[in-house]
Amino acid sequence: MTGSSQDKAWLLEVNGLSVDYGLKGVSSRAIESVSFALRAGEAVGLVGESGSGKTTTAMAIAGLLSPNARVSSGDVRYRGNRLPIDDDAAMRPHRWSETSVVFQGAMNALNPVHRIIKQIAEPCMLKLGMSRGEATTRARELLELVGIPADRGTAYPHELSGGMRQRVMIAMALACRPSIVIGDEPTTALDVITQAQILKLLGELRSQLNLALILITHDLSIVAEACDRVMIMYAGRIVEDGTVAEIFARPKHPYTRLLIDSIPNPANGKKVIRPIPGDPPNLVIRPSGCAFHPRCPSVMGVCGTEVPSLYKLGQGRVACHMYESSQKDKVAAHA
Ligand code: SF4
Repeated sequence: MTGSSQDKAWLLEVNGLSVDYGLKGVSSRAIESVSFALRAGEAVGLVGESGSGKTTTAMAIAGLLSPNARVSSGDVRYRGNRLPIDDDAAMRPHRWSETSVVFQGAMNALNPVHRIIKQIAEPCMLKLGMSRGEATTRARELLELVGIPADRGTAYPHELSGGMRQRVMIAMALACRPSIVIGDEPTTALDVITQAQILKLLGELRSQLNLALILITHDLSIVAEACDRVMIMYAGRIVEDGTVAEIFARPKHPYTRLLIDSIPNPANGKKVIRPIPGDPPNLVIRPSGCAFHPRCPSVMGVCGTEVPSLYKLGQGRVACHMYESSQKDKVAAHA
């Protein structure tokens, strides 16, 4: 799904976004021509292996790219207005109040020497101009909202369990009333029961506050629980997207199929993760043609030389030469 430029109906539009990283004089393209759009209250999962570009896409949207990153083409629009995603100072008024991020590993993201109530109240004072008293009241409300008794606000991060710390991170992300929350592997460090509780909490907050959610994960089973739509990324490009129901029932791209096959399913005897053969590509020396061709079980002659375009197919899109001949409705990746 793509949004037309400056379409106010979309909360967020990402249009043909490409980002390069420079390291020791070598440049590598982390994402290439990424386009999608998001409505208020919608949840989309960004899925792929390490290096697929999912985190770069999300950090670009939040204006949190590292200093050695450069936006080489495309733009990001919030309610139709272009965001200055490559200008740290200009992004400050937008960050946290329009789009906020829940990072993985709350213990590293929280300040160990400050009580949690102070850490939640601080953005309320800085961004919303609240007095200390008002900010403390809001921080207590936010703690209750994420299922932590307000009186626990006097605790330091090390006095809380991993799940409670991740709830604190969610409270901080909600402090400035954003419309979009990006969860960067928000449940990775948690046990399965706590993981399920955090996903349930995110779902409840989403419907309560009409939040749009972008969930970054390498785990499709998390997306199945928490999202409406899913975008599969490989080597910096979207290779397939669609509704969660459609992608799980009828995956089209060979990489999507292998990702779904890799999920353990004790009901049918699959008790362990089945890794996808081969390694993700080195983005400095990207494979020619379809970047997935060295690992693809359906590889054809054309795959090694021509990059497949992203085509509209049913309710979603797919980038694979297998489907090109049947496509009438071609959607350029540079939407
Ligand atoms: Fe496989 Fe070719 Fe499709 Fe790439 S384009 S996923 S190599 S069949």
